[in-house]
Amino acid sequence: MIVAERKSFEQIWDSVKDLKSVLILGCGTCVAVCQAGGEKEVGLLASELRLKSRMEGKDLKIGEATIERQCDREFFDSIKDKYKEYDVILSMACGAGVQFTAEVLEPARVFPALNTRFIGVTEQEGTWSERCRSCGNCVLAGYGGICPMTICAKSLVNGPCGGSKNGKCEASQDKDCAWVLIYNRLKKQNRLNDLRTLTADKDFRTQAHPGRSVNEAYLKPQMEDKSAK
Ligand code: SF4
Ligand code: SF4
Repeated sequence: MIVAERKSFEQIWDSVKDLKSVLILGCGTCVAVCQAGGEKEVGLLASELRLKSRMEGKDLKIGEATIERQCDREFFDSIKDKYKEYDVILSMACGAGVQFTAEVLEPARVFPALNTRFIGVTEQEGTWSERCRSCGNCVLAGYGGICPMTICAKSLVNGPCGGSKNGKCEASQDKDCAWVLIYNRLKKQNRLNDLRTLTADKDFRTQAHPGRSVNEAYLKPQMEDKSAK
């Protein structure tokens, strides 16, 4: 999932304090799971903003709504009229969701309430960590399912570097060396021999931005429909 964190309240207040009205728009998928921008967080932010607005003697009208995903056009129907009552939409989605909301509801003004951090996993309740840099050419099969691009501080595909010590990375003693993790995983899989083969350098052209992905299976029926008309 995409992991994000809420901006500081001061930053958010600064972005809306001169407005007359704001619709806080939550996203019910990734950012709800990482407790940054789901329905509950929309409610909390709305309460904080109402309180601050009152304390500052302002009359900021605050609306609340949450849709299932801000990165998917089909979920915007429920707010297609409501958002027009507000000066600005304060989106609690990831950066993709903020951009898509601005695109679908153009020319509405959409401000981000979160900082998008990474693609990651839930380590335990309240703790998330990065696992993938969306490199466009997944090589996990050769590394026992541990991503050298993401977990190694130098993204080495033929590690380790000379700085690995006692299982820790030279970049930070808080961080396990990715290559020790890879070695231990491959050992458990009886595949240590795999490490004898040098891997070709990563081709970063597959990581060109902005990425785009097309599934022909979805497009064909649409094209057939059009040609039948
Ligand atoms: S190899 Fe690339 S796609 Fe696979 S987990 Fe690592 S960054 Fe993600
Ligand atoms: S110590 Fe390990 S994780 Fe850190 S940069 Fe070197 S090889 Fe990568």
